[in-house]
Amino acid sequence: MKWLGRLFKGLLVLGLLAAGLIWYLLRPEQVPTRLILTGGTILPMAAAAATPGPEAILVEEGVITAIGTLAQLQESGAPVHDLEGQVLAPGLIEPHTHPIATALLGAVVDVSGFSHTSRAEVMQTLSQAADGRALTPWLVAYGWDPVAIADLSAPTLAELDEIAPERPVVVITQMLHEVFANTAAMQASGISLAAPTVGEPHGIIRDAQGRATGAFRELEAVNAILGAMPAANPAVIELLVRRAYTSYAKAGYTTIGITGAVGKHPDPVGLLRHIGATGGPLRAYLYLLPHQGKDLGGSDDFRVLGTKYWMDGSPFTGGAAFAEAYEHSDLTSERMHIPHGHLGPVNHDPGDFSTNVAKLQAQGHQIAVHAQGERAIDQVLDAFEAAAPNPGLAHRLEHNALITPAQIQRAKALGISLGFFVDHIYYYGDALPDIVGTRADRYMPVGAAMRAGVVTTLHGDHPASPIDALRTLRTAVDRTSASRQTVTAPEQALTRYEALSAMTRAAAQQLGQEELIGSIEVGKRADFTLFNGNPLTADWQALSVAGTWKDGQPTQTGLGGWLRFGPALAAVKSMLF
Ligand SMILES: [Zn+2]
Repeated sequence: MKWLGRLFKGLLVLGLLAAGLIWYLLRPEQVPTRLILTGGTILPMAAAAATPGPEAILVEEGVITAIGTLAQLQESGAPVHDLEGQVLAPGLIEPHTHPIATALLGAVVDVSGFSHTSRAEVMQTLSQAADGRALTPWLVAYGWDPVAIADLSAPTLAELDEIAPERPVVVITQMLHEVFANTAAMQASGISLAAPTVGEPHGIIRDAQGRATGAFRELEAVNAILGAMPAANPAVIELLVRRAYTSYAKAGYTTIGITGAVGKHPDPVGLLRHIGATGGPLRAYLYLLPHQGKDLGGSDDFRVLGTKYWMDGSPFTGGAAFAEAYEHSDLTSERMHIPHGHLGPVNHDPGDFSTNVAKLQAQGHQIAVHAQGERAIDQVLDAFEAAAPNPGLAHRLEHNALITPAQIQRAKALGISLGFFVDHIYYYGDALPDIVGTRADRYMPVGAAMRAGVVTTLHGDHPASPIDALRTLRTAVDRTSASRQTVTAPEQALTRYEALSAMTRAAAQQLGQEELIGSIEVGKRADFTLFNGNPLTADWQALSVAGTWKDGQPTQTGLGGWLRFGPALAAVKSMLF
């Protein structure tokens, strides 16, 4: 049987060679740890706008150690890295995003308004997907969007049962506040089909006879139906999250703020900590959900900063706690099912919320609160005002769709930063007058916040919008909808410089990391975004992200990037060593 041993050895050698080749192909691009960057346009985005920017910067061991002319820096003897005409800016920072949900919902059936224009198209996608393979035994579709798709009336139970008579189906709306389920999914979740049971979760929509319709509205009901859904394999989720990280990097981001680790995983905080500790193209800063404990801290690659709350919901589901009723229109009444005179609820009792804020603040937690409507914003400001002052701990208000000038002044006085979800204007700008009426004229008042001197930032809240930093930047500047038909509150526009500051220096301030990142200044980390074209002047069509650097090294955004530290690398290593 000697031949068998030889064959085995031969195969082993071949296997090792193949593994070595894979390792070589997937290896990270490395540059010297000490080098001079020059030969392009450098945008420092420091406090004072320097025009023109410096000719060169010196990077040593991942830190910017000198800025000046090429001749000055060449005295250091460091090698020169030519930017080849590209534009170098501080690494872009996305301060409000949800990478696990982005990863998971990116892997399910897409029924969104980003890729469909009619109900017929959406239903066809659902039918086709019913026979396909999926991450879990359930068919999960995400992105149902009656605001973006004009004829998108809710799917009936009969329709979903016909698409999948036996397999559980859930269709999740784009803003994550409503779910439609078929009979199999409701049976698997233990939902009573024929009549309501005593004490069942709020928001299970039933017909006049008490029968479940398959619709589940807002948190309690949505959790009741999705809670029964089997989770995907954690190793698969890790790969998907790593792939999502490379999507952020490809879009130009070098840092993300995770405002709530939402997404179905047994230990989402542990997963993010693990990814942060094992390399990748992003720094990540996490805000815990209230039930995820109190432990702060970490490293410059992954750090827990505080806690995230939701004070209200989405303007596109009737969840935003406005001061005045939603506009009464066909869209709100027929497609969004918002009752006439509806104001939108706040999620927390004022007393309880203030107590929690005071407690967390005393423990050093930075608190980020989702608040879209004026009533939600007031309640958050009240709680921040009532908590004992804690200098050096600037809390955050998130989204701020209808924040008023007076509330902006209150936020300023309390040292609170304001983050704006400007992509609403891009995706829903055409529909806004039908939802908020003339209040569209003061929707997402980014310009007012920035001109008031508040720390003002921009975010995409993925998966609520697709990851695309340049779209976010451009929308803050032109405030134009995707159809190019509607410009929402044009006087709230930022200049390009202001928009880029909001996505770099201000976002670093918001995360409390301005000593580390956010501008090109001596002593800061060498985190960069490289552009083809100048984001301050180029035609938007001619502008693209060429790549990112973190800690003085180009990040991997290809296949190798997300395989590099994952199970695939572990497998290759175990064969090699
Ligand atoms: Zn969010």
